[in-house]
Amino acid sequence: MIFKNITGNELIKKRLIDTVKINRISHAQLFLGIEGSGKLALAIAYAQYICCKNKKEDDACGVCPSCNKYNKLIHPDLHFVFPVVKTAKLTKPISDDFIKVWREFVLKSNYHSYNDWLEMMGSDNSQGGIFTQESQEIIKKLNLKTYESEYKVMIIWMADKMNISAANKLLKLIEEPPPKTLFILVTENEGEILTTIRSRTQLIKISRLTDDEIISELKKRHEADMNILTDISRIANGNMLLAERLAVETVRDSGGVNTIYFDLFTKLMRNAFATNIPALLEWIEEVAKLGRERQKFFIDYALRMIRENFVMNTAKEHTDKLVYLANQELDFSKKFHPYIHKNNVILLSEELNETASNIERNAYDKICFLDMALKFSKYLKIKPQ
Ligand SMILES: [Zn+2]
Repeated sequence: MIFKNITGNELIKKRLIDTVKINRISHAQLFLGIEGSGKLALAIAYAQYICCKNKKEDDACGVCPSCNKYNKLIHPDLHFVFPVVKTAKLTKPISDDFIKVWREFVLKSNYHSYNDWLEMMGSDNSQGGIFTQESQEIIKKLNLKTYESEYKVMIIWMADKMNISAANKLLKLIEEPPPKTLFILVTENEGEILTTIRSRTQLIKISRLTDDEIISELKKRHEADMNILTDISRIANGNMLLAERLAVETVRDSGGVNTIYFDLFTKLMRNAFATNIPALLEWIEEVAKLGRERQKFFIDYALRMIRENFVMNTAKEHTDKLVYLANQELDFSKKFHPYIHKNNVILLSEELNETASNIERNAYDKICFLDMALKFSKYLKIKPQ
């Protein structure tokens, strides 16, 4: 992966390249960014640049023997650690058990979703993690001599999924690193990384993609008119994975964006407000069909709608600059926003977050959504004053 093939984050790229030019590569770095920001791809591009035998001013060459191996993620001095799942055959899984499918997963796109990865490993409901046995592997690999490049690079994707004993062993390695070793931790949840690890790593903040960057990415794969792409980029709010999914799911009716998420959201709000139980039960059946990953997208979507409606309610002027909504969302929100106010916005958002974390933990989805719908029915009736 080379920098020029990754959209956005131009300043970060320059900063990373500069660390190599002035020989100030910090040995432990934490790449932090939202889902769909391209942080793993940037981490790999950085490592590839460091190891490239024929560096150009602003990127790796892409064709030298080192780059050739990086392009396939098979360079002997490049190591990956990532969450894995236990299976009937693998009771103590490590990253190397899944390395082939991992390479395929990483190379198919610049954007990587944790849930996609779980699905790709064939996990139905077991939770992924970086387990204790992985730390032995890490120590073993880093004690090897470098084969071909000056640096050994270890990229730890979703470093927040490390269990505590693996994290403590990693901490020791970061405190006393083997020579010429670079750790790149990649995460979406800075708060779930051990404080002691965080304080010993250099934080690299990967930005959300801008609307223009999202549109230019979407144009590579989708033929849709500018209005639709603009709507999608606003909804995606910097998450390229969400933008791609919305583009695929967009129904092009009457020239606007119509997504299943919008329909589900409006149904939930109307029926919860009316305490229409039969309609809510029907709604739950619809949500259950989405599957875990899309349920998560729906919750993200609902959180955004709640937030935007709250902004609309508190803002004096309903200008485009304040509210990031697509056309039909705006029509709905013009009537809906008075119902989202300071007395219920936090309750509603917390309930959504709670449901998301229960879904992550594989709680029974219909019960979670029923519980949420009933609470919404109560919260939406809270008076603004
Ligand atoms: Zn090269």
